[in-house]
Amino acid sequence: MKIYACPSCGSKNIFSYLSVIGMNYLCKDCGFQGDPFIFDSEENYQTFLDELKKQG
Ligand SMILES: [Zn+2]
Repeated sequence: MKIYACPSCGSKNIFSYLSVIGMNYLCKDCGFQGDPFIFDSEENYQTFLDELKKQG
Protein backbone atom coordinates (compact mmCIF):
# COMPACT_ATOMS: atom_id res chain seq x y z
CA MET A 1 0.00 0.00 0.00
CA LYS A 2 1.37 3.36 -0.98
CA ILE A 3 0.99 6.40 1.21
CA TYR A 4 0.67 9.81 -0.39
CA ALA A 5 1.70 12.68 1.83
CA CYS A 6 1.89 16.44 1.51
CA PRO A 7 5.55 17.60 1.40
CA SER A 8 4.51 20.87 3.00
CA CYS A 9 2.45 19.87 6.05
CA GLY A 10 2.72 16.06 6.12
CA SER A 11 -0.99 15.49 5.76
CA LYS A 12 -2.28 12.34 4.08
CA ASN A 13 -5.33 14.27 2.97
CA ILE A 14 -4.10 14.43 -0.62
CA PHE A 15 -6.62 14.80 -3.39
CA SER A 16 -5.62 13.84 -6.93
CA TYR A 17 -7.30 15.17 -10.03
CA LEU A 18 -6.71 15.36 -13.74
CA SER A 19 -5.64 18.77 -15.06
CA VAL A 20 -4.65 19.97 -18.52
CA ILE A 21 -1.02 19.11 -17.79
CA GLY A 22 -1.79 15.67 -16.36
CA MET A 23 -2.36 14.36 -12.88
CA ASN A 24 -2.20 17.02 -10.25
CA TYR A 25 -2.35 16.82 -6.49
CA LEU A 26 -3.91 19.09 -3.93
CA CYS A 27 -3.55 18.97 -0.17
CA LYS A 28 -6.89 19.61 1.45
CA ASP A 29 -5.26 20.66 4.70
CA CYS A 30 -2.81 23.38 3.60
CA GLY A 31 -3.67 23.95 -0.05
CA PHE A 32 -0.32 22.70 -1.39
CA GLN A 33 -0.38 21.79 -5.08
CA GLY A 34 2.29 19.68 -6.75
CA ASP A 35 3.90 16.27 -6.50
CA PRO A 36 3.25 14.53 -3.19
CA PHE A 37 5.77 12.39 -1.34
CA ILE A 38 5.02 8.70 -1.79
CA PHE A 39 5.92 6.19 0.90
CA ASP A 40 5.88 2.42 0.71
CA SER A 41 5.09 1.92 4.35
CA GLU A 42 3.60 3.63 7.37
CA GLU A 43 7.03 3.38 9.00
CA ASN A 44 8.69 5.46 6.28
CA TYR A 45 5.87 7.96 6.51
CA GLN A 46 6.33 8.31 10.27
CA THR A 47 10.07 8.91 9.75
CA PHE A 48 9.20 11.70 7.34
CA LEU A 49 6.77 13.19 9.87
CA ASP A 50 9.49 13.20 12.54
CA GLU A 51 11.86 15.03 10.18
CA LEU A 52 9.14 17.54 9.33
CA LYS A 53 8.58 18.30 13.01
CA LYS A 54 12.32 18.86 13.57
CA GLN A 55 12.32 21.46 10.82
CA GLY A 56 9.42 23.24 12.49
ZN1 LIG B 1 -0.49 20.06 3.16
